[in-house]
Amino acid sequence: METIALCNAACSFCPYATLERKGTRMSDALVEKIIDDLTGIPHRRSFLRDLSTEEVKAYLARFKGVGSKMIACVLLFGMGRPAFPVDTHVFRVTRRLGLLNGRFTPEKAQEFLESRILPGDRYALHVQLVQHGRQVCKAQRPLCASCVLARVCAHVRK
Ligand code: SF4
Repeated sequence: METIALCNAACSFCPYATLERKGTRMSDALVEKIIDDLTGIPHRRSFLRDLSTEEVKAYLARFKGVGSKMIACVLLFGMGRPAFPVDTHVFRVTRRLGLLNGRFTPEKAQEFLESRILPGDRYALHVQLVQHGRQVCKAQRPLCASCVLARVCAHVRK
């Protein structure tokens, strides 16, 4: 099959964004894969709710630009499932507190913290850490003198 147009949309979620399409002869296998992908997209908006958490993760991870934080946000806020997204605030605060060492990436931190936080505590703890990071444990100048966590914080003991 020879394509006739070059797509310039560059949608972040498109799995074929890097494909040079204009005038390119696509292999039969690729054509079949694209058709399979398109026909495999469920039409019901609620279809994700029928999937297990691992299936939701696998489904969303197929989309370019969708990372573990976004997947955890969909699970936690969109589906009410006990995930623990690690955004920039959660990452900074938990590192300063000494819960993570310097070798953790945000992705590894999310895996590590989620496995140690009870499912029922994840929503509240995520929201409270984000709020704490915005209001007290700020990126540039943390307000340690008025922080309720100062007595247990590794950053203060340095
Ligand atoms: S004591 Fe300072 S560094 Fe530690 S959590 Fe509080 S504001 Fe952040």
